[in-house]
Amino acid sequence: MAEIIDGKQLSKQIRHNVGERVAEIKESYGKVPHLVVVIVGDNPASLSYVKRKKRDSERAGMKSTIIHKEASISEEELLEIVRELNEDPDVHGLLVQLPLPSHMDSDKVIETIRKEKDVDGFHPLNIAAVHTGAKGILPATPKGVLSMLKGLDVDLVGKEAFVIGTSNIAGKPIGMLLLEEKCTVTYAHSKTRDLKPHARHADIIVSAAGVVNLVTADMVKEGCIVIDVGINRVEGKLVGDVDFEGVKEKASYITPVPGGVGPMTIASLLENTLECFEHLEGIE
Ligand code: NAD
Repeated sequence: MAEIIDGKQLSKQIRHNVGERVAEIKESYGKVPHLVVVIVGDNPASLSYVKRKKRDSERAGMKSTIIHKEASISEEELLEIVRELNEDPDVHGLLVQLPLPSHMDSDKVIETIRKEKDVDGFHPLNIAAVHTGAKGILPATPKGVLSMLKGLDVDLVGKEAFVIGTSNIAGKPIGMLLLEEKCTVTYAHSKTRDLKPHARHADIIVSAAGVVNLVTADMVKEGCIVIDVGINRVEGKLVGDVDFEGVKEKASYITPVPGGVGPMTIASLLENTLECFEHLEGIE
């Protein structure tokens, strides 16, 4: 029977640590990190994420601003807003909430964000840093997954890790971070012929596909660590990619959905904002 990794609790601890550091810096330097979130349009899920980011950053003692624009603004107008925020010395962390309206090129918008303020870690140079092992800003969800794994009393070196999903924001960087930890990493994607032989071999499974019931008990070996990044909505309820009830009987550790990876993503975002602030302000 698996131990459940409590993402809510871990994230609370991380947010508390960030808050303490922010208070310390405020005391010594009289400044706090400022996170700006730009949102375009009225996607209800995006609006609620953005509000949560503002709430949690303020709770950690940071300054936070939401810039909310109509879905009808042009791409150039949005790029101009980003360029101004890039130049603004009072802004330390900057993110543009995705998805953007279809008339905008998200890649172009993200590439325009100054990489030193890119708290989402989506800028191509920050993504490249994950792949080369160079110093950069880690994307929030992969960073949260790594924090969870490192928080376990488990040596990651030499572990067989199976990562399902290869997107640039989740699967691919998660696998690269595990590779940096000296895991042996196998990736799967929608064209992988059969997940089972890879999964059954794995010491760690991370599923980031967005497919309900993708990982079932028969695929998992006894004692495997299972991290569920997936967020799916089934009859109004949030569920992950993993058949939690079945898999928890065989895994050694497992993350629930909700209350697993999700809360860690925001905690990592706050850590990134603090890191950007310290870097930009030259604070050790
Ligand atoms: P995406 O659609 O960009 O990528 C999905 C990946 O899964 C692709 O590589 C695809 O090939 C693979 N895939 C799809 N079906 C598959 C199958 N049947 N077998 C194997 N691989 C399959 O999605 P994403 O943005 O990477 O997000 C993935 C999931 O993680 C979604 O459910 C998303 O909501 C969730 N997510 C959660 C958080 C969080 O904070 N918890 C953050 C980001 C993404």
